[in-house]
Amino acid sequence: MDILTLCLHSKFIIMKRTRTKIIYILLSIFMVYGCKNDDNSENLDDFKAENRKTLGVSAEDLLSDDIYKSLTVELLFSESYRPTETAILNFKNFLNDRLNKPGGINFLERVIPEEAGAPFDNTEIREIEDKNREVYTVGDEISVYVYFANGKSANDTANSVTLGTAYMNTSIVIYEKTLMDIASSSPLINLADLETTALNHEFGHILGLVNIQEDDIHNLHEDTAHNKHCVIENCLMYFESNSLRGIRARFSGTERVAELDPLCIADLRAKGGK
Ligand SMILES: [Zn+2]
Ligand SMILES: [Zn+2]
Repeated sequence: MDILTLCLHSKFIIMKRTRTKIIYILLSIFMVYGCKNDDNSENLDDFKAENRKTLGVSAEDLLSDDIYKSLTVELLFSESYRPTETAILNFKNFLNDRLNKPGGINFLERVIPEEAGAPFDNTEIREIEDKNREVYTVGDEISVYVYFANGKSANDTANSVTLGTAYMNTSIVIYEKTLMDIASSSPLINLADLETTALNHEFGHILGLVNIQEDDIHNLHEDTAHNKHCVIENCLMYFESNSLRGIRARFSGTERVAELDPLCIADLRAKGGK
């Protein structure tokens, strides 16, 4: 093979490679585009999936910054059942103290119309969320939904009332009407303290307290008589900290908003919390 033939041959190979490269590029673009289209159609159905899991499974995702760098808390209420600014601020401080979110914790407040059909059962509470929730977990931002209900819980009896419930991995209902009724029934009871206790306690359940996923490091502090609560009496996660009797007892004392005890805090730290 002489030098010219070699050159021509090389040119041919180069051309051939270029052509193959172009085909590969076109193919890749088609595949990426094709996959993207598939993802989009899946997302239309599944964008709520990350927020439709069982209670406690997102504890680590909320506490650590491994996957999610920021948190958005969506707070929904109707005009007459707006929570106090003090409680929102206390709740924000509670989250900032415990969660590792270098990208920040953002609160979005939105007024929605009052819901008919109170008292609300669990199915209705889920339907209200489905209808009104707008912020879902996406990218490296995890989202939590809190609804301040304009009615009571259907589970209330003459002897016990429900102040709030954490019912999925990122969903909380606070029965704001119940809190307002309790606060207006006694001059000793402060609404903002009541709201703060209910918000922090329910968020504690979302953070897996106590032993909700049966993986806590100090499972000896789970109150076996009152499942998924703490044995320490002045802890935020004590079963009565969020009950009417417990609240009445607490409001006659000096420490009105309960805090987490060291065992509960250690559990949160074991999952990446502060
Ligand atoms: Zn509880
Ligand atoms: Zn505790």
